[in-house]
Amino acid sequence: MMSGDTRDSVTVSSRPTLALATSNRGKITELRALLGEDIELVSLDDLGLPSPEETGSTFEANAELKARYVFEHGGLVTLADDSGLEVDALGGLPGVMSARYAGDQHDDAANRALLLRTLASLPDSDRTARFVAVIAVINGHGELTLSRGTCEGAMAFEERGSGGFGYDSLFELPDGRTMAELEPATKNAISHRANAMRRALPGIRTALGFPQMEESRLTP
Ligand code: IMP
Repeated sequence: MMSGDTRDSVTVSSRPTLALATSNRGKITELRALLGEDIELVSLDDLGLPSPEETGSTFEANAELKARYVFEHGGLVTLADDSGLEVDALGGLPGVMSARYAGDQHDDAANRALLLRTLASLPDSDRTARFVAVIAVINGHGELTLSRGTCEGAMAFEERGSGGFGYDSLFELPDGRTMAELEPATKNAISHRANAMRRALPGIRTALGFPQMEESRLTP
């Protein structure tokens, strides 16, 4: 399992267990930090499940279908994140196609290269964009909650930074740094995923049987 326990079973931990409907290592690392250490996480790989096909046309629809898919295969409290990059000059693309922008092989470097080429002649003033994350949670009764978070920025003219994943090295924040130039803890304070998680976390912890959260855990 993902915290260093054996992979033989998904029931060996005494901590409450949350299923994550993803096998994306970058997302799992960020979700681990955002959720805290007192929750046992199991991924699609831990559950032996292939990724479901993302057939929805919105982040909400895809987050929901991923969460329902995992919940139906094990009945665990489940979290799914559907996220991506919206470039205003492209009418919101790559959007829900972010992972597959350059083809079905989910190749982050190829996706970034295609986006850089597509935006090459776009002036500074037209390069606004945002990251969007929708977190779907299904509790033990099968009830769904959706939480959305965004992070505003602009597309850079070349890649900078080595942190994060996906489009981070192309996404400039208002202070001029790219998301890939931030420390992980800084990204986890301001990102779209963090903003969605701030809304989702109280419900996740309640669904896992924890007492109600103090306010201090919810502020960056
Ligand atoms: P999903 O697995 O369908 O939600 O696809 C998400 C895709 O959006 C990822 O593969 C990345 O390309 C992009 N993405 C989502 N969140 C981030 C982020 O925090 N940084 C960089 N790229 C991201």
